[in-house]
Amino acid sequence: MNGSKPYVVAADIGTTSTKTLVIDREGRVLASHAIEYPLHTPKPDRAEQDPRQLYEAVVEGIGAVVRKAAVLPSQVLCVSFSSAMHSLIAVDAAGEPLTPCITWADNRSAAYADLVNRERNGRAIYMATGTPIHPMSPLLKLMWMKEHDPAIFLAAYKFIGIKEFVFAKLFGEYAIDYSLASCTGLFNLQALDWDANALALAGIDAERLSRPVPTTHRMAGLRPDLAAAMGLAADTPFVLGASDGVLASLGSGAFEPGVFAVSIGTSGAVRGVVDKPLTDPQGRLFCYALTDKFWVIGGAINNGGIMFRWVRDQLATLEAEEARRMGVDPYDHLAQIAAGVDAGSNGLIFMPLLAGERAPYWNANARGVFFGLSLVHEKRHMIRAVLEGVVYRIHSVAAALAELSGSAREIRASGGFARSVLWRQMMADVTGTPVTVPDAIESSGLGAAQLGLLAMGEIADFAGVHDWVRTGTRHEPDTANHAVYTELTAIYANVYQQLRGDFDAIAAFQQRH
Ligand code: ADP
Repeated sequence: MNGSKPYVVAADIGTTSTKTLVIDREGRVLASHAIEYPLHTPKPDRAEQDPRQLYEAVVEGIGAVVRKAAVLPSQVLCVSFSSAMHSLIAVDAAGEPLTPCITWADNRSAAYADLVNRERNGRAIYMATGTPIHPMSPLLKLMWMKEHDPAIFLAAYKFIGIKEFVFAKLFGEYAIDYSLASCTGLFNLQALDWDANALALAGIDAERLSRPVPTTHRMAGLRPDLAAAMGLAADTPFVLGASDGVLASLGSGAFEPGVFAVSIGTSGAVRGVVDKPLTDPQGRLFCYALTDKFWVIGGAINNGGIMFRWVRDQLATLEAEEARRMGVDPYDHLAQIAAGVDAGSNGLIFMPLLAGERAPYWNANARGVFFGLSLVHEKRHMIRAVLEGVVYRIHSVAAALAELSGSAREIRASGGFARSVLWRQMMADVTGTPVTVPDAIESSGLGAAQLGLLAMGEIADFAGVHDWVRTGTRHEPDTANHAVYTELTAIYANVYQQLRGDFDAIAAFQQRH
């Protein structure tokens, strides 16, 4: 590495906060900083942010972390970025936002997802672009805007995502990396360019989008006042980087065939890395670019850690209160209670579909089900069944992934769920696959730093990531428990299929009342 510039600054623009890190050549984090901002929900199906606020958080966050690490402007090799996926902002010719930043969590275009799937050959669009036909997709957000906000749709100079907004403000140039482009539903995976059919569906031409460039693309030439505010030199290169999802795979070391990354925070996801774009003929999985040589395929579930929160706040409120009185984390206390029940919760199955479901079902009307309740079941069985149910959901996505890319020999666990020994062991037992936990927490930021080194020509490939990511704990599957879970997951899959029509009926009822 360039000896006089030993540090990389990573900036990870997330939905709840922008996290910045200063990292050295051994992958050690010298300092980290997070700046939070709100997610606005003016209507139940909206989830928006103020793009200016996020831009300010990036500038402030970089400055703060550089000061914390006490590194000199001349010692910073580059700044490299990670960003949340699927955001959409309409901007005018001066780069000023005409709309809020419409985030991945925004559901306004739900009706367009149904329309495209039913009448506009959604499957072919997905196969070409790798982005599932789902309201998160900027393609569908554009279709919504064209009909619901035609004045802005016509007036907009460009339609961009949050990272392009930040780079345009800093450098006056509209470029989108292949990775975030591949999450727009508008980008052709094979051609590495905008997809004519998707553009036609959105009703725009390519000039109204940013120029697609590799994830190693760099910009430089900061205004002196901005450089000073960030503690950087004016010529410090900024590497565009990639999406937080694919960088989390890289930064957790889940970067070889047969190693799946499973992260469960509020929602959850399973990801695997492949060396060419690969879409699923059954439409269950996404395929997003990391570079032009590596692609991340996987699936996201809606109902991850939020299910445990639901248990804590709705089902086991007394127990959670008791934990707080004892000064114990309620999640740890509830997990302890669940640990007192045998694997399989005495035949109680919970289908954690409270928020509808994404992969692999893509069914917004799905709802939660306790199946198999009998008089032997107590609250502790229900608590355990919920934790098991979330793992069953991850397992069904991992199985779809295995069909496409080969089976897993190791799962790398991250997110809030990875704090629980019980939940991690359940993951090993249900899937029959060893589970490891990387020591690093900021995996997207670490991934961004690796990509920064590649962009600067300091490394030739990502082999070094293995030295960066150390895994402490390892859980081997328990054979007897695995047999129990194999039996129950088969019943689970069957029950889901049988209930499909009834899910539509109950969701329609709930909408009316
Ligand atoms: P976010 O999606 O905001 O990044 P986190 O990764 O912090 O969320 O995960 C939050 C979830 O992690 C909680 O809803 C809960 O399900 C789970 N969680 C947090 N702490 C624990 C714990 N000690 N044991 C088990 N699960 C936990």
